[in-house]
Amino acid sequence: MIILLVGSPGSGKGTQARFISERLAIPTISTGDMLRAECESETVLGLAAQSILAAGRLVDDELVNAMVVNRLSRPDCGDGFILDGYPRTIPQAFFLDSFVEERGLPSPRVIHLDVPMPVLISRLSSRWHCSTCHRTYNLLYQPPARKGRCDVDDAMLVQRNDDTEQVVRQRLESYHSLAGPLLDHYAGDRYHRIDGQCPPEDISRQIEEALRPVAAIPRGR
Ligand code: AMP
Repeated sequence: MIILLVGSPGSGKGTQARFISERLAIPTISTGDMLRAECESETVLGLAAQSILAAGRLVDDELVNAMVVNRLSRPDCGDGFILDGYPRTIPQAFFLDSFVEERGLPSPRVIHLDVPMPVLISRLSSRWHCSTCHRTYNLLYQPPARKGRCDVDDAMLVQRNDDTEQVVRQRLESYHSLAGPLLDHYAGDRYHRIDGQCPPEDISRQIEEALRPVAAIPRGR
């Protein structure tokens, strides 16, 4: 099964990706995480992408497509995979269509987490994470017990350098200018819109219901 998690930055894709990945035992491929890892390791791709990520713009389609194909060719993707943050543009969507067709893979199911813009700005600019275990906190809705420290390991909380309000606005504008055509591309039976403002557990349940007809998901936990 191939699942595309579509939604603006801050729509909760990461949280739901972890949930689906666990339930279906398939890996999540997050292009944002992969690009951040490339930047941290200062690879050729990372060095080319660093300033683009810092400004909240999109990395070139060719670079991202090559990185994704490379990752999808690994054996752990054999039973399926979840894509988080890819495709983000129409050329990326066409590229993925060809990849799926050439390899004889099933048509992707599309889960769209829909969240209004003002909620996204507030969520993203108050999002911090642990510098060690990467657990995410929201300083407004889900703050840590001790200011600036992780509840799990007491390590320092840090903010992604593209989660500042100015860069957040740029990332959201970039997402919204491309989202319409992308969602049109995936319109039809395989598309499922989910209200991303519901509590995370309700969203997980709705995703499960949407996928149940095509995935062998056991009922209950
Ligand atoms: P994310 O963690 O998904 O919000 O992505 C963080 C940043 O990585 C984005 O703001 C882009 O600069 C870059 N990025 C992630 N996915 C893509 C993609 N599919 N195409 C181009 N750039 C991407």
